[in-house]
Amino acid sequence: MAENKCAVVIMGPPGSGKTTLVRSLTARGRISEIEAGNLLGDEVRRDTPLGRQIRPYQVAGELVPSELVQQVIAARLEKADGQFVLFDGFPRSAAQIGILFQLLKEHHLQLCAVIVLNVELQTALERITGRRICPDCGAIYNVYTEPPQQAGICDRCGGKLMQREDDRLEVVQERFKVYERDTIPTVEFFRKEFGLVTWEESANSTPDELLERVSRRLEKAVPQLDLRENPPARDDLPSH
Ligand SMILES: [Zn+2]
Repeated sequence: MAENKCAVVIMGPPGSGKTTLVRSLTARGRISEIEAGNLLGDEVRRDTPLGRQIRPYQVAGELVPSELVQQVIAARLEKADGQFVLFDGFPRSAAQIGILFQLLKEHHLQLCAVIVLNVELQTALERITGRRICPDCGAIYNVYTEPPQQAGICDRCGGKLMQREDDRLEVVQERFKVYERDTIPTVEFFRKEFGLVTWEESANSTPDELLERVSRRLEKAVPQLDLRENPPARDDLPSH
C-alpha cells in the first residue's frame, strides 16, 4: 500500500465537455472518478443532512463551501480502487487547492497530470442550456447536438429527462462569472507550480477528438495506463 497512485485533475469552464470526457475515459480504463458536482448533487437528491446544507449554494450557482466538498470527496476516496484517481470539477477555487493536497497526502496519491480545457463561450452555452439528463440512469443528452429519439424520454431506460437546476441560462451566466473569479486563479496556480504536469486542450472539437488527444497524453503521464479503444459489447443492437 506504500506505492503512490496517480491523481489527475481536470478543469474547464462550464460547457467544456469535462463530464463527457471523464465518462468516456472511465469507460476505457479502470479509473476512480471523483465527479465533485455529481457527488454533491447526489447528497442533495437524497436529501441527506449534508445535502440540505449544499442545496442553497447550488440553486444560486455559487460555490459550495470547501469543508462540505471535502467531506463528500473523502468519503468517495475511501472506496477508490482504480489505476488512477480522476478529479473532475475539483479544485474549483484557491481555497480548495489546500484541501486537494491534504486529500492526496491522506490517500497516498501523487499528482501526475492537470488537464485544463478551453472552450469558446457560444459553444459552451449551447452545450449547457441544451443539456438534459436522465435522473434514473444518469444518461446525458443535448437537445441541439444529441437529442433522444423521443423528446424528453431516455433512450436507455425510458426515464423522464430533466434539466439540471444549474444548467438554466441565468444560473449558467453566474457559473461563468464564478469560474473566472475563482477557478482561473486555480489554473494559474497549477501552471506556475506544476507546469511540468499541467497542459491545456482545446475543447471546441468533437468529444471523440478530445478523448483521443487526452487519452494519448494521459498514457504518457500515468505509468502502465492503457486507454486504447476497446469497443463495449453492443447488446443494445439486434443481432442477425
Ligand atoms: Zn435513463
